[in-house]
Amino acid sequence: MRSTMQKVPLSTNHLLERGSRYFGAREIVSRLPDKTCRRSTYADLRRRALQLAAALAKAGVRPGEPVATLMWNHAWHMEAYFGIPAAGAVLHTLNLRLSADDLAFILADAGDRVLIVDDVLLPLADRLAALVHLEQVIVVPTTGAAVPAGRTDYERFIEVDASAYRCPELDEDAPCGMCYTSGTTGRPRGVVYSHRSTVLHSLAISLPDCLDLSCHDTVLAVTPMFHANSWGVPYAATMVGAKLVFPGPHLGAEDLLDQMEQEQVTLALGVPTIWMTIQQALDAAPSRWRLRRGMRMMVGGAAVPQAMIAAFERYGLSIKHGWGMTELSPVGTLSWLKPEHDGLAPGGQHNVRARQGLALPLVELRIMGEDGPQPWDGASMGELQARGPWVTGGYHNQPDDPDKVTADGWLRTGDVACIDGEGYMRICDRTKDLIKSGGEWISSVDLENAIMGHPAVAEAAVVAIRHEKWGERPLAVVVAKPGASVTAEELARFIEPHFAPWQIPDDYAFVDALPRTSTGKFLKTRLREDFRDWQSKTR
Ligand code: AMP
Repeated sequence: MRSTMQKVPLSTNHLLERGSRYFGAREIVSRLPDKTCRRSTYADLRRRALQLAAALAKAGVRPGEPVATLMWNHAWHMEAYFGIPAAGAVLHTLNLRLSADDLAFILADAGDRVLIVDDVLLPLADRLAALVHLEQVIVVPTTGAAVPAGRTDYERFIEVDASAYRCPELDEDAPCGMCYTSGTTGRPRGVVYSHRSTVLHSLAISLPDCLDLSCHDTVLAVTPMFHANSWGVPYAATMVGAKLVFPGPHLGAEDLLDQMEQEQVTLALGVPTIWMTIQQALDAAPSRWRLRRGMRMMVGGAAVPQAMIAAFERYGLSIKHGWGMTELSPVGTLSWLKPEHDGLAPGGQHNVRARQGLALPLVELRIMGEDGPQPWDGASMGELQARGPWVTGGYHNQPDDPDKVTADGWLRTGDVACIDGEGYMRICDRTKDLIKSGGEWISSVDLENAIMGHPAVAEAAVVAIRHEKWGERPLAVVVAKPGASVTAEELARFIEPHFAPWQIPDDYAFVDALPRTSTGKFLKTRLREDFRDWQSKTR
């Protein structure tokens, strides 16, 4: 017997059609460089994205070809998210925090000929254009200033009659987007998403046990649109017709809180470092902002300290902790409570929610040790490996790499994790960040979480330092909250109940700020370098 079901190719065009047809009047709010707001709708998005598609086709961009964007989060970038794939081309988002050298490598590796860039980012684009050949640089006038001679004005570029334009027939496995990994070790690698992977990912992240996304939501996308598709939210929000709010270049805690209040945001997404600054702003002026009660905050990209979940709950705000990677489109897991957790005290529930969580439907996880797959007992650690329809099976321009994908087709994430009997995954570390002391592994993430639970600590990162006798020992690099002070002895005493004595750092360095990667994570390679000559106090 054969199935009688239709085989309709999945495509991002369907998401755009659905969003504009059923929710055409829903708003997309973009904060401009001068802090005024540009308000548009899903109907506008469809019209202008198709104009962009028609204009790109007219300019000779071919199906399958990448088109680069160097842009903040705003409605113009949304047009690129849908318009470039609608032309059959590949949206290639560039990380605007990288150096021109790194970006030049990425542009050459991807083979971009056309770049769409915000006017405020033109100086970086000019440096880039001196390093690689770009046939056309299209400038988005976010400030309203005139576009310099020799560059194409985006608004002029899309002034085409798109009424007769027909999107090319798209195979669901055709590429629609690409993004390079952050590359904290070695050169960045290109991950290429398909129409199919993007649609399935949008469906999965919208589920009630994931983001619980609907047309009743107002979503603040703080996660950069150049970082792993802003976690897939531009596509998923369009699919369900959620109102979208974009911060543009204004990522300060007070700016974000202002926007949350003005637009009565129900869901916001960002990395923990953003939420740390927001928490500090709320602690400093608890009644200044009237936020929507019950606002959900999806936090991922790095581990969420348990103390942060409790801290936001005091303001009636709820953190959803997720784990993902550029290679997973990016969401792989999310931590939600099961009915059997209803009876747990708040501390117990926070403990479950601080884990990285359960795999999304269609994503499979396994923990691989030296002797094969490890049991799901909450203690056996090993490399986390993943497989699923939105997990990459390799990298652009790179031959099969057994260091990245196993012979039986699982992605090697480079994360060390364990999974408990209920299926909750917990990241213990990046493979390279684990600390090996006297032959035993110490999780830097666990120590960081515990130290960041201290009321005087703003943030903390733990790295390995060399030790003659023990091989490595943990060093905690700590930033105190403004106006607060704390000593090494107080911190050691504070975390003592949660660790074996040999796991507790004897070494603490107090600094004003921690170095960060271009996506806001602690830059541990730099810390290891900065503290290479540190003399450990451990005997
Ligand atoms: P990126 O591709 O830049 O998003 O980085 C992916 C990596 O970020 C993962 O392999 C993890 O090491 C880390 N990561 C992402 N989410 C989390 C999380 N919730 N907890 C701990 N690490 C995370």
